[in-house]
Amino acid sequence: MKITVLEKKDNFIKFIIEGVDSGFMNSLRRVSMTGVPTMAIEEVEFTKNSSVLYDEIIAHRLGLIPLKTDLKTYKLPSECKCGGKGCKICQVKFKLNAKGPKMVYSGDLKSSDPKVVPVYDNIPIVKLLEGQEIKLTATAVLGFGREHSKWSTGLMIYQNYPKIKIEKVKNAKEIVDVCPRGVFELDGKELKVKNIEACNLCLACVDKSNGGVVVTGDENKFIVTFESWGQLDCKTILQNAAKQLSKRLNLFEKAFEKAMK
Ligand SMILES: [Zn+2]
Repeated sequence: MKITVLEKKDNFIKFIIEGVDSGFMNSLRRVSMTGVPTMAIEEVEFTKNSSVLYDEIIAHRLGLIPLKTDLKTYKLPSECKCGGKGCKICQVKFKLNAKGPKMVYSGDLKSSDPKVVPVYDNIPIVKLLEGQEIKLTATAVLGFGREHSKWSTGLMIYQNYPKIKIEKVKNAKEIVDVCPRGVFELDGKELKVKNIEACNLCLACVDKSNGGVVVTGDENKFIVTFESWGQLDCKTILQNAAKQLSKRLNLFEKAFEKAMK
């Protein structure tokens, strides 16, 4: 297996992976999006809500606010020593106290842990008019995106690495123009591939050239893009995804062994 990174930021990574198949890629995609724990608000206790929105709508909105996640300090409620009752190792508390007139934003949430705060301060929650008030305590816990999308880490997409073969082409200029991704260029009158990794296998060039250009996807080489919602950086998510995948395979191995005895 070989990986070449094309682009890397905290919340975005693009890389080429070789020596794997689509089955492996799909497992990796699913586990990195929904099998790595992140923090999200799970319970909300309202002491006052005179806004125009029902408690449930506000609670749902709060749940969807991405929270910076600290996997070293916090444990899943199901794996915590407290047995899931709730303690400092498996819960973070948020307080929200606001009086109208104002727009209430995610940044108004006061966290009990300065490391676990909303990723963005400017997500609107509810608009309060003169005399309206909201007062609540929210509890955030670690969870998995496979249980609820509020815990999903981000989005992974992958495609087969393009293989482009230029055979007989009469209308080179037209093919350069028809490609929406700018893959081709003209070298004199000859058609040439300029940027193969931009190709998303749309096959517009194949149609335009009447088969003069042949495009296929490599079955064992992929271009992978991962964008994180910000709770964790891409490196942590993908490293953790590999651990989660092998953890589940170990569980399978043990269970299978037991079942076959
Ligand atoms: Zn606990």
